[in-house]
Amino acid sequence: MMEGHDLNSLTLSQDLPLSQDSFRQLWDNVVTSTINISSVVDVPQETWRANEPIDMLALTEEFDENLFELAPETSRDVVTPPSSTVPVTTDYPGEYGFQLRFQKSGTAKSVTSTYSELLNKLYCQLAKTSPIEVLMDKEPPQGAVIRATAVYKKTEHVAEVVRRCPHHQNEDSAEHKSHLIRVEGSQRAQYYEDPNTNRQSVTVPYEPPQLGSVITTILLSYMCNSSCMGGMNRRPILTILTLETSEGTVLGRRCFEVRVCACPGRDRKTEEENSTKAQNGTKQTKKRKSVPALAPNPDMTSVKKSKSTSSAEEEDKETFVLHIRGRERYEMLKKINDGLELLDKEKSKTKVSVKQEFAVPSSGKRLLQRGERSDSE
Ligand SMILES: [Zn+2]
Repeated sequence: MMEGHDLNSLTLSQDLPLSQDSFRQLWDNVVTSTINISSVVDVPQETWRANEPIDMLALTEEFDENLFELAPETSRDVVTPPSSTVPVTTDYPGEYGFQLRFQKSGTAKSVTSTYSELLNKLYCQLAKTSPIEVLMDKEPPQGAVIRATAVYKKTEHVAEVVRRCPHHQNEDSAEHKSHLIRVEGSQRAQYYEDPNTNRQSVTVPYEPPQLGSVITTILLSYMCNSSCMGGMNRRPILTILTLETSEGTVLGRRCFEVRVCACPGRDRKTEEENSTKAQNGTKQTKKRKSVPALAPNPDMTSVKKSKSTSSAEEEDKETFVLHIRGRERYEMLKKINDGLELLDKEKSKTKVSVKQEFAVPSSGKRLLQRGERSDSE
């Protein structure tokens, strides 16, 4: 290949130093910006989480006036404390008793949106509708709105604004195409981008419940997967729903985590199981330690076994997300992964049976079996 393209390779090699320079510049930029971000994020979480609820009210007022001011010209000259650029994520029912309720959708494979009470987490598919029920103790003032804002859950990401990934933005022709959260089924939904923080949100007028009902349902959809590269990029997000007056004063707030994924039912089930396992696991290891090591315990092998596998499991517990274009390819790779999972299960089963056989050497029959040819064939 090199022989016929002397000219090409010549120009290439001449270009190389130049492009390396620009790469270096790029890299330097990346490095400095990373440093900047981390220094911003260094503000400990406690500073805006602690001292609730007394300070929360103060935060709330600063929050709405600075974050979601529609017209900056009508400036209220509020001194912006550094904490107000980070949205508050604590629940605050307020005097109207603002509450959310989610429909019980279960964890079936086909479910497109399901909520885990255990984890306070909504699992939904990309662009599929998630109905969220809003309850109030008493009717809020005329013109009240409900605002939905997305924010990164982890402290190290919270300074970054949640937006859609470039790929999904490009596919969309809507004016608010960069918005992750959409309100469906209402022509009165309004999309905002705060001029100071660039945080995006969507509001919908609060409608009192229909006659004979106590709830109002709002329909949200999320327009990127949690795994979208260049967007959420596997970083968990929270959705903040605030009840606000028409002037933007916050009257109540509710938060929940959101994961946008291909299999909401399966992921909810897995994460709920992992969460209960993690809780039970700490209890069980404590119990095991109290078992006297010298006692002729018939359970010893199984204790040993589960200890060794659990440490191996912990090593391998880390999950990775793979981005796959096209359902067909996804199904194919999923089959491979399912197969490997099954293999792992089978392996751990055979390990147990082998260990148990060695643990009981008293039976001569077993020794014979080991020498038998028919076993190995
Ligand atoms: Zn996306």
